[in-house]
Amino acid sequence: MDQQTMTRADVEAELARLAAEAQACRRCPLGDVRTQAVFGVGNPQADVMFVGEAPGFHEDKQGEPFVGAAGQLLTKLIETKLGLRRSDVYIANVLKCRPPGNRDPLPVEVEACRPFLERQLGLIRPRIVVPLGNFAAKLLLDTSTGISRLRGKRYPFGGATLIPTYHPAAALRGGAAAEGIGSDFDEIRRALDEAPVAEEPPEEQLGLF
Ligand code: SF4
Repeated sequence: MDQQTMTRADVEAELARLAAEAQACRRCPLGDVRTQAVFGVGNPQADVMFVGEAPGFHEDKQGEPFVGAAGQLLTKLIETKLGLRRSDVYIANVLKCRPPGNRDPLPVEVEACRPFLERQLGLIRPRIVVPLGNFAAKLLLDTSTGISRLRGKRYPFGGATLIPTYHPAAALRGGAAAEGIGSDFDEIRRALDEAPVAEEPPEEQLGLF
């Protein structure tokens, strides 16, 4: 089916089918150590889609992304800075299964799991994609530049605009992330209110999405 002509119900059904596929997935070794896959939650026709790194302890237990303290901060920023409810946006991670001890994802895991994220992006077709933290930002922009230089700016991303910001867990630790994440959300709000205008990507952009 042409994604442009899919109804909300069509998109919901396809996302549900993919979520069930993720629950049974063994394409990488994380499938053997997770409690459950954490596929993603939210509005299947969201204007804004957040992409974090991977499920943590609480997410692995509850099956929903960003449910711990970092998730509470994310929800607060969505409500206070964007004027939206958490259910208005879509929230997912690069990896659908928790790496043991919350270690960084391995390249082989990212490669195995990326078709799920690609399908989510293709089905939801958000206007704004927001990578949360170094890992998601570097992956989606295919760059080695760190989040402190990438954050808060607009980058072309297929038909969407990508605006990276810090991971909320980093903001909870204080410092530059705590100071900067609010202003990055202000930029997301401005981008939602404007016609999308994107800056050039810092390096050649990943052509997959
Ligand atoms: S992390 Fe992704 S690829 Fe690996 S088992 Fe889970 S769903 Fe499958």
